[in-house]
Amino acid sequence: MKYLIVGNGIAACGAVEGIRNKDKNGEITIIDGEKRGAYTRPLISYYLSDPDAYRDINYRSPNFFREQQVKVVPAQALHIDPALQRLTLDDGRQLSYDKLLLATGSRPVQLPIPGAEQAWVKNFYTLQEAEEIQDELEKVQQAVIVGSGLIGMKAAEALYKRGRSVQLLEKESRILPRQLSPGPAGFLQTYLSKQGWDIILGEEVTLIHPDHKVELKSHRLIPADLVIIAAGTRPQLELARQAQLQVNRGIVIDSYFRTSDDNIYAAGDVAETMNITSGKPELMALLPHAHQEGYLAGCNMAGYNSPDTGNILMNSLRLLGWNICSAGALEDQEADLLSWGNKEQLLELKIKDNFLRGYVAINVPEVVGPLTNAIRHKISIPAGGWEEFINQGPSLKNIPLTYWQELRRIETYGSD
Ligand SMILES: Cc1cc2nc3c(=O)[nH]c(=O)nc-3n(C[C@H](O)[C@H](O)[C@H](O)COP(=O)(O)OP(=O)(O)OC[C@H]3O[C@@H](n4cnc5c(N)ncnc54)[C@H](O)[C@@H]3O)c2cc1C
Repeated sequence: MKYLIVGNGIAACGAVEGIRNKDKNGEITIIDGEKRGAYTRPLISYYLSDPDAYRDINYRSPNFFREQQVKVVPAQALHIDPALQRLTLDDGRQLSYDKLLLATGSRPVQLPIPGAEQAWVKNFYTLQEAEEIQDELEKVQQAVIVGSGLIGMKAAEALYKRGRSVQLLEKESRILPRQLSPGPAGFLQTYLSKQGWDIILGEEVTLIHPDHKVELKSHRLIPADLVIIAAGTRPQLELARQAQLQVNRGIVIDSYFRTSDDNIYAAGDVAETMNITSGKPELMALLPHAHQEGYLAGCNMAGYNSPDTGNILMNSLRLLGWNICSAGALEDQEADLLSWGNKEQLLELKIKDNFLRGYVAINVPEVVGPLTNAIRHKISIPAGGWEEFINQGPSLKNIPLTYWQELRRIETYGSD
């Protein structure tokens, strides 16, 4: 059996492990478009904050690929011929496959801002981009980060830790708009502002001047030695489109990670997978999901029948010593809001019909596991149970007893 994997990221590594779980001898080839080996993408911000401590951010070492008998080809995949089961690379080589996995991940959204093509305006998505910023850092005193999502926040933190002044621009009315509801976002913003971050909400960049000034919609000019555009990501769908696979916002797959072509699979950021909370297939660009999906796709490519059971959206972020977690459907307008907090901690729960639908937890890490399980397994707590939990002060010992009983039942007998 010949397995071909496009992309050498997280989902690809999971897929190798999944394939080898069943097929010890099949031929596995990975097409590594970045030509950097498999590295842990989120750690590029750790690298930038301390390049000596984080010089090695391998996700899997070169030994792993040798031991798993995987051939890694540094090249870009350009074209799939599904009828001939053949992939063409940018160096002209053609490779045949029995099973192909698209694990091509995402790339940053490019904003059409005049001046964004200048060398001191960067994205922060690849190790190469982090290295370029590191190489030029001596010239940087003032950095402007456009976008306050997870990636923008981690870029800002790295530069702040290197002693640079940080200006964060967000076009929405709160920071981390996809990860936090308004109350927790304001709570976190107050903390970051006290640390010296300048955060500007409800503003957009309209022009980046060659004399190192960023112009906002309000015509305000901000000086900048470095601009990082972190305005979201999109799945890399070119190959899937070219091969005429069914594509929505991401590649459409069945619960076995098979695309509309029986011999082509997709996993990771590029594929739409089942969101348990919404009950719909969605893009859920998260590292643990990418590995798990790659693993299951690999198992299925090698002949197992390992269906995806779905996942929930969950974010976990450490920012200047604060621990920020959120999960589930925070935007559910029909859910009741329960909240608790003090100077440094905050917990917000969204409850509907005795079910926890979503939460934001700032500096209460001990309750995050049970709360995530309660959403994932749709555990119903008798009326008043969540109110009692939060009013007592959210700690592990106050988790409602019904939660533990239900979890034990699910672990023993499975979900309904
Ligand atoms: C700064 C930062 C912080 C993050 N923090 C978190 C976090 O805290 N938690 C979390 O869960 N997630 C986080 N993420 C997201 C996480 O990194 C991704 O969800 C994960 O890497 C997705 O894995 P993947 O295998 O789908 O794609 P990737 O790991 O991106 O791998 C895809 C690879 O495919 C290559 N490729 C694409 N097209 C081709 C082609 N035609 N030919 C050859 N190769 C190709 C790409 O260049 C890339 O190397 C973060 C990301 C960044 C950038």
